[in-house]
Amino acid sequence: MAASKDRNSSPTVAIIGAGLTGLLAAQALKNVSIPINASFSPNMFFPLFQLLTIVKNGFQVLIYDSEVHLNSRLRDWTILLHWALPIFSSLLPPSIFANFDSAISNPHLEFDDWAETLPMYNGETGDLIFKSAVPGSRRITRRGLREVLSEGLDIQWGRKVTSLDTESDSEKVKVTLEQEDGVEEEVWADYVLGTDGAGSKVREILFSNQENGEEKAKVKRSGFMIGTCIVDYQDDGEMVQKVLKKHPVTSLVMSRGAVGGFGVQYTTSSPSYPSSDLKHTIFWTKIWKGSLSSTPNLPRKGPAAVRYLKQSWQGLSPDFQVLLDSTPEDETHTKAFIDEMGTWIAQPFDNRNGRVTLAGDAGHPMLILRGQGFQHAVTDVHNYVQALLAIRDSGADRKEVFENYDRDMIERGSKAALQALEEAELAMDATSVEKMLMVRKGHGRSV
Ligand SMILES: Cc1cc2nc3c(=O)[nH]c(=O)nc-3n(C[C@H](O)[C@H](O)[C@H](O)COP(=O)(O)OP(=O)(O)OC[C@H]3O[C@@H](n4cnc5c(N)ncnc54)[C@H](O)[C@@H]3O)c2cc1C
Repeated sequence: MAASKDRNSSPTVAIIGAGLTGLLAAQALKNVSIPINASFSPNMFFPLFQLLTIVKNGFQVLIYDSEVHLNSRLRDWTILLHWALPIFSSLLPPSIFANFDSAISNPHLEFDDWAETLPMYNGETGDLIFKSAVPGSRRITRRGLREVLSEGLDIQWGRKVTSLDTESDSEKVKVTLEQEDGVEEEVWADYVLGTDGAGSKVREILFSNQENGEEKAKVKRSGFMIGTCIVDYQDDGEMVQKVLKKHPVTSLVMSRGAVGGFGVQYTTSSPSYPSSDLKHTIFWTKIWKGSLSSTPNLPRKGPAAVRYLKQSWQGLSPDFQVLLDSTPEDETHTKAFIDEMGTWIAQPFDNRNGRVTLAGDAGHPMLILRGQGFQHAVTDVHNYVQALLAIRDSGADRKEVFENYDRDMIERGSKAALQALEEAELAMDATSVEKMLMVRKGHGRSV
């Protein structure tokens, strides 16, 4: 599917990147929900929809991703969707949101106040340090939510954006995409939304006309490492019970020089299972101070990564330590990944007269502390849709509208990214725990 250069066609938006942000934007632009005096309660998703008018096929959407199919990336993770969940649900047509439960790590859980709380334990004593209320929150898997959000979209896989031409035409943008075999393809769009993640090529292009632009646009290594194991414990459910006993969704754990989490990644059921026989796959994550440049030989995945993570996180209380020590080291039962987290402090760029901008991790990659990244991505998508509606339906000035969109995204993104860095520093030392935003302000909206 390629947009023509025809000026009479309705606005076409080329979305670069089919991660959660790009997929949500595509769904929202195709089907715009207009709230009518609706006040949201997290436990009232469907009643809310009765108050919405769904405008179908609002915009023409083209969506491209450099990966070859939806699940080609092996690494998966869970995301706590909390303050942005009402905004998220308002962006989707009911037929898509109806499948949201299938993305929840444990959709069979009866959510109550405790399940909607995030506890932080002292990893060495096993005692609760503090707990943060996250009412209405749901922990989803990235993979599961991508599956839900991709329904009905014609995603063009294996297309990597390489350049944007905003000079040849004052109104439209020519997008050049490259396929794996090197074949190039050109499409025209009225707008381009860069949702191509932390290492965004669109961001690099937007900065290319600034002095030292390439360097400015680059995501920076944060000095914080993350290791994750997704584990199918080969036992009779004993380890799963230990995880659930601490918390049915996720427990955070602070120990000397590291912070982490233990929780449910996936839940498998079958119509013939009673709910007590649900099978849970567990994840555990460790974050510590370090860098790939000072430890270039660190194993990044596979059994060696599992061994490294197990050996390097010792001295925990028995109820947590046993979860590490019992982690199988073979790739069939444990998927392990180690990486240095990236961050970038959002700053102004030339949006080519309001035709090209960014959303999600492309606009504000940040550390995962306090779970704000996707919440801000959802906010970006909401604002982006409102911006395009204001231009199309109310005749608002494109340049002005996108100056406002960018200003807000940069302000929210840079503040949240700085807060997440500070939060990571504080989390490394039990004596500074009371200074953490998680303790003082919980998991509420960062900005
Ligand atoms: C372990 C972990 C836990 C997290 N927990 C939370 C949490 O609890 N709460 C929260 O709010 N956030 C959390 N986050 C952050 C959240 O996951 C991200 O903010 C969100 O997934 C970003 O999605 P995205 O679509 O913007 O980027 P991505 O998921 O990176 O998607 C970008 C897409 O663009 C494609 N792409 C890249 N380059 C190109 C190109 N040149 N051309 C075409 N396509 C391209 C990629 O293939 C990819 O599919 C967490 C992140 C991690 C890693």
